[in-house]
Amino acid sequence: MISKILFTLGVAAAALYGYRLIRRLASGASSRSDGSPRKDEKITADMTKCRICETYVPREAPAACERPECPYASPQGGA
Ligand SMILES: [Zn+2]
Repeated sequence: MISKILFTLGVAAAALYGYRLIRRLASGASSRSDGSPRKDEKITADMTKCRICETYVPREAPAACERPECPYASPQGGA
């Protein structure tokens, strides 16, 4: 009877320990995958090269350089 209770407690403790260990490993792995590799991929994907000034600018919101030939310069001249 007592051995059965101890066995149940042992199994429960082992399950809890295993659960925490797996959860810890999973969170560590996911945080690592969300780190540098994904960041590098995003940079290369969202950056485009200006053919005039030869600098990399964000594709979605390209910043214009000071050269008048820059294709990313503001189309609204004057101001
Ligand atoms: Zn430019």
